[in-house]
Amino acid sequence: MPQWLKYGGMNLEEAKLRQLLKSLTIEEKIGQLVQLSGEFYNASDISMGPQRKLGITQRMVDLSGSVLNVAGAKQIHRLQEAYLAKGGHAIPLLFMSDIVYGYKTVYPIPLGMGASWDPRLIKRAYENAAEEAYAGGQQVAFAPMVDLVHDARWGRVLESTGEDPYLNAQFAKAMVGGFQSGLKDGKGIVSCVKHFAGYGAVEAGREYNSADMSMSNLYQNYLPSYKAAIQAGAKMVMTSLTTLNGVPATADKWLLNDLLRKQWGFTGVVISDYASIYELTQHGFAANEQDAAYKALDAGVDIDMKSPCYANGLKPLLEDGRLSEEKIDAAVWRVLSLKNELGLFEDPFRGSSEALEKANLLTPAKRQLARKVSQEAMVLLKNERHLLPLNRSGHRRVALIGPYADESKMLGLWAIHGYPKDTITFKHGLSEYLDTSRLTVEKGTDIIRDADFFAESGRPEDQASGQISDSATEKKHHDSAVAAAKRADIIIFAGGEHTLQSGEAGSRTKLRLPDNQQRLLDELATLGKPIISVIISGRPLVLTDVLADSDAVIQAWFPGIEGGHALADIIFGAYNPSGRLSMSMPAVEGQAPIYYNHLSTGRPEKTSQHVGRFVSRYTDAPTGPLFPFGYGLSYGKVTYHQPTIDQSQISSAQSVTIRVPVENTSEIDRTETVQLYLHDEVASIVQPVKRLIDFKRALVPAGETLMVSFVVKADRLGFYNQQGKYVIEPGKFELMIGPNSDETQTVEFSLKD
Ligand code: BGC
Repeated sequence: MPQWLKYGGMNLEEAKLRQLLKSLTIEEKIGQLVQLSGEFYNASDISMGPQRKLGITQRMVDLSGSVLNVAGAKQIHRLQEAYLAKGGHAIPLLFMSDIVYGYKTVYPIPLGMGASWDPRLIKRAYENAAEEAYAGGQQVAFAPMVDLVHDARWGRVLESTGEDPYLNAQFAKAMVGGFQSGLKDGKGIVSCVKHFAGYGAVEAGREYNSADMSMSNLYQNYLPSYKAAIQAGAKMVMTSLTTLNGVPATADKWLLNDLLRKQWGFTGVVISDYASIYELTQHGFAANEQDAAYKALDAGVDIDMKSPCYANGLKPLLEDGRLSEEKIDAAVWRVLSLKNELGLFEDPFRGSSEALEKANLLTPAKRQLARKVSQEAMVLLKNERHLLPLNRSGHRRVALIGPYADESKMLGLWAIHGYPKDTITFKHGLSEYLDTSRLTVEKGTDIIRDADFFAESGRPEDQASGQISDSATEKKHHDSAVAAAKRADIIIFAGGEHTLQSGEAGSRTKLRLPDNQQRLLDELATLGKPIISVIISGRPLVLTDVLADSDAVIQAWFPGIEGGHALADIIFGAYNPSGRLSMSMPAVEGQAPIYYNHLSTGRPEKTSQHVGRFVSRYTDAPTGPLFPFGYGLSYGKVTYHQPTIDQSQISSAQSVTIRVPVENTSEIDRTETVQLYLHDEVASIVQPVKRLIDFKRALVPAGETLMVSFVVKADRLGFYNQQGKYVIEPGKFELMIGPNSDETQTVEFSLKD
């Protein structure tokens, strides 16, 4: 009989599960609260290598209850079988992994998904990701990352859907729903929402820096997406690596216990982020590893990811009487309940297999959906003289130039299960529209030519793998590119950030194209040919120089494995671009953090009679962004006519309806994302100049007028005060409606006492 059948091969009733918990030794209990990564299970000598540094012993490995980032059914089955074969308690391992924006079918990065403004589509993408991951033996996804972001210098803006609390909350709900929708049929995977809380506000965009903010800001802006994820049923929460208002999130009792569990009613499992319990000692919040273990468990962290603190510290804490066994039992109970709920006692492999994996990964239907997500994520930023779309049956010759012209490594940092080999490159995509006689492809230059960059990123192997060409090769690339550009009628330049320039530990202060790429683009611009620039990046870059050189610009993010198809669809008009930025694009780096829903200042931006030159602006740069939140172009033209409302005054039990006619005056269908913003004119906490409260993504057929309406209930007019209480104050309000956060038309109404 396989060892795991010890429990009768079925989900355990509560009483049986309680019995199991009771039967465990203290070491076995603690084991359930320890998470290690795959290499520990494979190591032949645990006392060597990085394990030793962490103080991980063979015994901990034998007892640990969950595993991080192991890939593939084969490997997962092997580890699970070996673990269970050891005998003892025979509680199956939980396998968790970073499945952030797809599994094998990699989608665009979440910042690109945010630009789709299409949570319904994104839900389907996460359902597909869950189906693939489930088939491959995964049980928990460390996603979605729902941290709200304002500062493009932070590398992890890549993993966020953007700067708006309302929009982020819609995506949080969609992503959790997508991951977990299969659970009811014993499939799907558990969603672990991260990083609770406020990680997106790290000061100056520097990775792992502290976050400090008022309570009303926290409640109003940073918490809604986590709350939406919890309300959508996320069964796990990961803490943040940083401090929030001076307390490390991993040991913040108020955050993890009072807010998450008591106020929000979360009953699932809380896991620390990678080594963040150990880092309590580094923050200066815990005296030593044992103290760190105490503070984290006491605050409400159930599982210690990749640190020795729980494994070494909990037992002595118990023996000293500082920690009660009930406290440990409560955490173990939550872990066992999750395992039971997932059906691991019935089948520790949950029906996964190599065959199922094979049948589910990268199917044509999944690729098709990835292509759609990628199309919707791309944002057309500029299109002078209607250069785009190109006519595929025309006779013009196209030179596709740049380091991303035929580069398959364009999946971004967190696509850890995807393979570049499965990626449709831009060259591949374009060649499905143009025959080879009209398409020339040249690399022109490397993505980045800076050896120090690779050395400091801790990945010198990336450089060694030929990412920096020798100078003769580089010159050859350059000369062939310029020659190809001269022969062509149109240049498509494909450039952008290196994978290691964004993502975790990818903070930057210069948000431009690498110098070598900009130099090449500047040179191409002197040739006087039309240029379409396609920008790959994990963040909004400062694109002033790119815009100056280009007639059209497409922001493609890290576009996922179907990126090449999606780009070609847009360039040749098979898809009318519909992406709208979910994060403001700065005009210069010094503006960061810049976001549209900032508070009103007491001073204007332009000199005025009242205050002369003492105004709220920069003396050396524009005050506003290069492109605002919600911005994006499409082919064709629409006009937003005068909006109207049905009532100019409402009571707290009523709602107001706003309508706007959106007229498509062109001959091409286009999708409009109609955005509705609110401003509370006078309030006891100063309110944002505007904030998104609703949006509709709708197809406006060529030549037609669509009436778009929104019903705004009075209970949407409130805000959170410094005590975290949602208050609605009567008075005057403005509703602003338009195609982006900048170009809005306003109507006023008031809320009665
Ligand atoms: C990241 C998390 C991730 C974890 C496990 C950490 O470094 O902050 O987002 O889930 O590693 O890979």
